[in-house]
Amino acid sequence: MRKALVCGAGGFIGGYLVNRLKEDGYWVRGVDIKHNEFDNCNADEFIIGDLRNPTVVDSVVSEDLDEVYQLAADMGGAGFVFTGENDADIMHNSATINLNVLDNIRRKGVKKVFYSSSACIYPEFNQADPENPSCVEDTAYPAQPDSEYGWEKLFSERLYLSYSRNFGIKVRIARFHNIFGPMGTWQGGREKAPAAICRKVAETKDGGSIEVWGDGKQTRSFLYIDECIEAVRRLMDSDFTGPVNIGSEEMISINDFAKLVIGISGKSLSIINIPGPEGVRGRRSDNALILENLRWAPSQPLRIGIEKTYAWINNQITTGK
Ligand code: NAD
Repeated sequence: MRKALVCGAGGFIGGYLVNRLKEDGYWVRGVDIKHNEFDNCNADEFIIGDLRNPTVVDSVVSEDLDEVYQLAADMGGAGFVFTGENDADIMHNSATINLNVLDNIRRKGVKKVFYSSSACIYPEFNQADPENPSCVEDTAYPAQPDSEYGWEKLFSERLYLSYSRNFGIKVRIARFHNIFGPMGTWQGGREKAPAAICRKVAETKDGGSIEVWGDGKQTRSFLYIDECIEAVRRLMDSDFTGPVNIGSEEMISINDFAKLVIGISGKSLSIINIPGPEGVRGRRSDNALILENLRWAPSQPLRIGIEKTYAWINNQITTGK
């Protein structure tokens, strides 16, 4: 039986990944600083620990592991990443986690590691046109991410690649583009745009209005969680190192996204655009590289995943969870 460690198992993507690894027949150890908020993590062993602490990392990365999935990071949506207030924490905490994890992987002889990078590594100047942003993998350099979160991810990509070169560790790196779904953070300040807009729509009475940050013309693409997990598993089982985008090419403006959610809710709501942290003007995954190497592309349109996510967030609100 293959053994895996999932760092960040108490988080949104980490919880789903643990469950998928279990379905695939793995024995799984999860580690996180907190339990999974929605109890969506069926690890064989779950350890509460701070991965900034080298002693904790030493105790969870054991010699008998076949694979490590490193998803732990200090992260959140635009309200957390783009205000500048959390920059030092984001850089220090996430970089320390990655340094500790890699050092232990090397010392314990673990052969294979997955690292979750982000679309936020792409240069700001390639994402100025909302109609035509470029996130092709080899446009990452010359680098100019628009946030410290992106710079830390870029540094850590390079860290993982250098451990691969110097110590022969098999590294797989994905750049996630806005992953969403049920059992993701939907309130509290760290939620991302899809969950935040679903929450605003669900909380607003018919005939009311919701506030959307920016002019609403900024564009994004969003990927449903099940599709993301499938792509991660394919990447890990392949001989392809990456970095490679895992995202959707279905681009939508934020106001059109809000209209989509309003339509799903069956309510009649208006949109008020207000100033707020909004990030780059346009962003969409480019899937040519992953299609070529892994024969993977999303299987469903955005609307299907949003229907499920809206229903789940609406239920959280109406049942007072
Ligand atoms: P998440 O915040 O739900 O999960 C991250 C987990 O890391 C959290 O449970 C958190 O408690 C844990 N963590 C943070 N600091 C820790 C520490 N010091 N010790 C132990 N655990 C710690 O986020 P997610 O959406 O599941 O994202 C998972 C990974 O994917 C992250 O690395 C994130 O940067 C990356 N990513 C996510 C998206 C997305 O759209 N969700 C997009 C790009 C990249």
